[in-house]
Amino acid sequence: MLPAHVEAVEWIGERFRLVDILAEGCRGAKWQPGAKLKIDIGDGMRRTYTPIAINAKSGRVRILAYIHGQSPASQWASAIAVGDNTYTSVPRSSLDLNELSSAVVFFGDETSFGEAKTLQLHLGSDFSACCVFEIRQPQQVEAVVERLELANITLVQIREDRSHLGEIARRLRKALADLSTQHLVLTGNGRSIQAVRAALQANNATEIEYLVKAYWTPEKTLKD
Ligand SMILES: Cc1cc2nc3c(=O)[nH]c(=O)nc-3n(C[C@H](O)[C@H](O)[C@H](O)COP(=O)(O)OP(=O)(O)OC[C@H]3O[C@@H](n4cnc5c(N)ncnc54)[C@H](O)[C@@H]3O)c2cc1C
Repeated sequence: MLPAHVEAVEWIGERFRLVDILAEGCRGAKWQPGAKLKIDIGDGMRRTYTPIAINAKSGRVRILAYIHGQSPASQWASAIAVGDNTYTSVPRSSLDLNELSSAVVFFGDETSFGEAKTLQLHLGSDFSACCVFEIRQPQQVEAVVERLELANITLVQIREDRSHLGEIARRLRKALADLSTQHLVLTGNGRSIQAVRAALQANNATEIEYLVKAYWTPEKTLKD
């Protein structure tokens, strides 16, 4: 872990912080879409975030942090302020979005908007990325979609009985058909990923090439 400090913090509603960090670990690092970065959140704890952009010359890296409750990462993101000192890793590969060079369908949740943005930046205007999110607070999320200028977004409200996951699977299947692609990226809640994948495999009509990365799992602290 290498020294870093917070250069800018933008509140997007109550639940999201767009944070720019000047990080020695990112100096000289090439931005790879789908990379991950470990950040020291205090008390010896580290959490993983997705670099949306990296300026290799200065080492400036941008992340979007989601505040889901009173967890250590939520408290860190709630209190973060310009000038705070921290440490980061160097960016490491996680989801290899570089290997995608055609239309893509993407699934995630509030922790995945940074990843969706990197995917859309990577594909540019050459190919579409259709993104479906399971979310808790539509108003908070709509502000993020607007601020990050995300395109082709569908937001599906989470239902506690998880019945919304059937709708997600249907929407993903339709998007794959509409874009005539086999590429499906699954991110976010590990339990939702499992359920969506099972629903898609139960209806084996189309061949799917998966890229999968769970970002968190209920009742667990993920070691990534
Ligand atoms: C490769 C990778 C990239 C990631 N990129 C981002 C990113 O760009 N932005 C971002 O905000 N997050 C991102 N995450 C997720 C982030 O690392 C986790 O949300 C975070 O580590 C959870 O830490 P915590 O201190 O909040 O909770 P923990 O201490 O890990 O867990 C405490 C409790 O909170 C629950 N919990 C954890 N996350 C959530 C959640 N999202 N919603 C509801 N309950 C939750 C846990 O299940 C547990 O019960 C990424 C994770 C990975 C692995």
